[in-house]
Amino acid sequence: MALVPMKLILDEANKGGYGVGAFNVNNMEQLQAICDAAAETSSPVIIQVSRNALQYADKGLLAAMVRYMAEEKYPHIPMSLHLDHGPDIETIKECVALGFTSVMIDGSLDYSTKDEKGSHPVRSFDDNVAITKEAVEIAHAAGVTVEGEIGTLGGIEDDTVAGGVHLTEPDEAEEFVKQTGIDALAIAIGTSHGAYKFPVGTEAKLALDIVDDVHSRCPDIGLVMHGSSSVPAHMVEEVNKYGGKVPNAVGIPTNMIQDAIGRGMRKVNIDTDGRLAITAAIRKVFVENPADFDGRKYLGPARDAVRTWIIEEMKAFGTAGHADDYKPVTLDDMKKLYAAG
Ligand SMILES: [Zn+2]
Repeated sequence: MALVPMKLILDEANKGGYGVGAFNVNNMEQLQAICDAAAETSSPVIIQVSRNALQYADKGLLAAMVRYMAEEKYPHIPMSLHLDHGPDIETIKECVALGFTSVMIDGSLDYSTKDEKGSHPVRSFDDNVAITKEAVEIAHAAGVTVEGEIGTLGGIEDDTVAGGVHLTEPDEAEEFVKQTGIDALAIAIGTSHGAYKFPVGTEAKLALDIVDDVHSRCPDIGLVMHGSSSVPAHMVEEVNKYGGKVPNAVGIPTNMIQDAIGRGMRKVNIDTDGRLAITAAIRKVFVENPADFDGRKYLGPARDAVRTWIIEEMKAFGTAGHADDYKPVTLDDMKKLYAAG
């Protein structure tokens, strides 16, 4: 089937009470691994690309590959193509034109400038509302889903550097949804981007009561958690065992993500784990078979490692088995629904 609006996937997950992984891609092998895992577990899936990934892989190339997977290879699997951390209106327009079925406008930070510490400054509530509203107008006119963000995350993802961490205020979240007309909302509950989410020796902690509160105020909004990699110990050990240097990496335990899903979280963003899986597999081949110089000999095992791990995630989030639950909705259908208000 054609790529579906992300709103469809999140609405269905809301009805079914499960979560859906949103996995970042930069190349063919990652995309194959994600789609193979979705097909094997019969899961709907969100494939997301960051602004930097669009540059790395060429504008349009990733979109064309994702469309091929949805339309030709796995036409029975609902898939969405989502822009992760859209920094400005220009990028939103580009992605809508490229056939993305969902975009995030990250109005929580001002990406056009950096402060003296090298961080993007936090936008005011009103400025966040203004840019998010503009993105909603553009995207909804094409039937495309919009994710906004309120509050800021810690950590580093690409060059997304938060100028301070502010957990989401439920009052503000409710008002933000009302004023912007977004479909999905990223909330800050203590997760952060990257492989070092909590200081060494401390316990992982999330403000899960914020999920309860925002979900009860905005029950139809697809809630999103960013920075949700588990950073599995076996992956980190493997990376370090074969010459890597990723000491003291700590992620979000899977049972905490499951707890968040139980409280209404619907989209679970994961990037770091995929990077670790790939790096561990490639390092292993390089150490064990130093004579190999055929890229397929190490990219193949990397792809297998990502697929194996995503299958586990799809089962853990409750996504597995839900691919055939519902009828696809097209961007045109959504366009009419949005126009009708
Ligand atoms: Zn993020």
